[in-house]
Amino acid sequence: MTLPEKVGQMMQLDAREDLDDHVLRKHAGSILHTSPERVLRAHALTARTRLRIPLLVAEDCIHGHSFHEGATIFPTQLGMAATWDADLVERVARATAVEVAATGVHWTFSPVLCIARDLRWGRVDETFGEDPVLIGELASAMVRGYQGDGLADPTAVLATAKHFAGYSETQGGRDASEADLSRRKLRSWFLPPFERVAREGCRTFMLGYQTTDGVPITVNSWLLDEVLRGEWGYTGTLVTDWDNVGRMVWEQRVQPDYAHAAAAAVRAGNDMIMTTPGFFEGALEAVESGLLAEAELDRAVARILSLKFELGLFEDPRHPDADRQRAVINHPDHAALNLEVARRSLVLLRNDGTLPLTGGRARRIAVVGPLADDAQTQLGDWAGSSGQADWLPDGQPREMITTVLDGLRAHVPPGWEVVHARGADILTLAPDPEGDTFPDGQPRPQVVVPSPPDEALIAEAVAAARDADCVVAVVGDRVELVGEGCSTATLDLVGGQIALLDALAATGTPLVVVLLASKPLVLPESTRDAALLWVANPGMRGGQAVAEVLLGLVEPSGRLPISFARHVGQQPTYYNQVRGQHGTRYADLTQDPAFAFGEGLSYTRVEYADLRLEVDVLAPEDHVRAAVTLRNTGTRPARETVQAYVSDTVTSASWADKELKAFRQVELGPGETVTAHLDIPVADCTIVDARGRRVVEPGEFTLLVGPSSRDSALLRVGFTVKSPA
Ligand code: BGC
Repeated sequence: MTLPEKVGQMMQLDAREDLDDHVLRKHAGSILHTSPERVLRAHALTARTRLRIPLLVAEDCIHGHSFHEGATIFPTQLGMAATWDADLVERVARATAVEVAATGVHWTFSPVLCIARDLRWGRVDETFGEDPVLIGELASAMVRGYQGDGLADPTAVLATAKHFAGYSETQGGRDASEADLSRRKLRSWFLPPFERVAREGCRTFMLGYQTTDGVPITVNSWLLDEVLRGEWGYTGTLVTDWDNVGRMVWEQRVQPDYAHAAAAAVRAGNDMIMTTPGFFEGALEAVESGLLAEAELDRAVARILSLKFELGLFEDPRHPDADRQRAVINHPDHAALNLEVARRSLVLLRNDGTLPLTGGRARRIAVVGPLADDAQTQLGDWAGSSGQADWLPDGQPREMITTVLDGLRAHVPPGWEVVHARGADILTLAPDPEGDTFPDGQPRPQVVVPSPPDEALIAEAVAAARDADCVVAVVGDRVELVGEGCSTATLDLVGGQIALLDALAATGTPLVVVLLASKPLVLPESTRDAALLWVANPGMRGGQAVAEVLLGLVEPSGRLPISFARHVGQQPTYYNQVRGQHGTRYADLTQDPAFAFGEGLSYTRVEYADLRLEVDVLAPEDHVRAAVTLRNTGTRPARETVQAYVSDTVTSASWADKELKAFRQVELGPGETVTAHLDIPVADCTIVDARGRRVVEPGEFTLLVGPSSRDSALLRVGFTVKSPA
């Protein structure tokens, strides 16, 4: 290979731009964001190159094949996390891979392993929430689902663990800001999920945008060389995030020019450089001027070519396959799985007895709110018309999506009436006063202008509510309030929604709030007694799932993968904070979250009793084996998520008061009593000590078991870990 061919092989370029230039002049090794037409054109151009090295085609298929018209769009990752069900998540990833592979895409930039801590951050919806163990479990399942039986399997797609590492630890929730993290904190909470999937064979890792301790992750040799490739023995491929290499020049300004930036990125061990067109000239110049040896490029090029060989692309470049697409895209099994995961993703947070809506309680339902019938918003970010794909301006086909209004209309018992009023608008958009584009030419999102309350819309909704037996208000956020560059300063409902809820609550008609929101939001005081169902963007079948749960056709069983705040100023509200601060409240507000990690109700009550241990003095190689008795005290079935936390009584360095170590789901029929068994290796009862080593410190521990992370909900039993013999 010539030097330009090698440099090009390391480049992943945006297929929405000049493909001729990308493939014929820059010899691009990979493309992303390609429409079905453009992928064919890209392959045709590749066939005209000297070496005809097959292209690696990548896309963000992060909750289904996001930008393929007619593909199955599942709930967002945060919604999937609310199922707490790794098998289900694995099945979602497998179905996604089958659809993705048929369209000629080889690589998905999923899953996200970031820990969501500041709810203002715009990308909370893309995460599995706030807990490293839950994240690790679900991410591992997702990677298995995508990669299937191995890369030789034509339905396997490459998974990406992203964004390595600490990207979510933003300042004030602002996207891609400096992540103020020590190495010890990284090792304590941010790295473990990544370590797990690295060791399990996730084939690619994406490096986040952020700097830590002044060093962009792209050139952080401690993290990339020492930890990832060294300690964890990772042999997969590293891809930068969008223009990380260019950003070191024009944004972070830690490199004087593209030649230096390219040399630094190659030397740090990056393999694929995403969307930095200037890397081409930069790398050539770096070699010419002696900043970089050509041999240093070979390492990366070899890894990329090996990956293409492993995928078998030289024999079968896995082009789009129209017949297969007809057979697998939106296959009925995938649609059924989508409905199942949507149902399981719903979290009932409060219920005064209004739910489920059954014959005695409601015959006429007023369905109000700006999101009751907003099909594309329901899909959330990274789907259809969310902004990244210009070939789907109108989003996914309307008839494939069931909104809450559709769902209720279709599923209420015969003779019931469903009336609808929008009630409020959320926002309009205005140009960003700083200009239409960022310095690199990428479009700036427009700025959100909250819509004022509209008296006429509210009056119409109030009239509908007064005439109804029950109001279902579907409120939340829109994609303009979600995503990169769309973090929010507030967690309150935007636009006319608060005024709408206040007016509905004042009618006295029983109120059910369906919070269709990408992330936890704060609801107005007026709704404090209303029934509340949180629905993270629930995908195409979401409206049906919501209707079924509201009507009691399906039991609510989701549990929070992330805590809800009472007020934006409480940030962060994650449950596993380090102990040792003064007090537990602000002068003017408790620090207690509105809803804590792990919480979620059923339509019955499950009581926990008699937590017991098999043995309570254990050696470091033993397992903590516990049993707890669960009793369904009601008349409806339940799927209970039994959660086990461990608290280390005295630690050599400050540590979280408790951490999730295991969980399991148990089905209980009405009135049924079941024993749930839990098994936690003592080796998992670790802290990271002041020297950065993960260790089990012998001594006293407490096992806490219950339905959520809330202290008042947990049973406790002590155990002792002996020093090694
Ligand atoms: C995002 C990544 C994504 C990439 C490609 C970036 O802006 O941070 O998560 O995979 O774009 O679309």
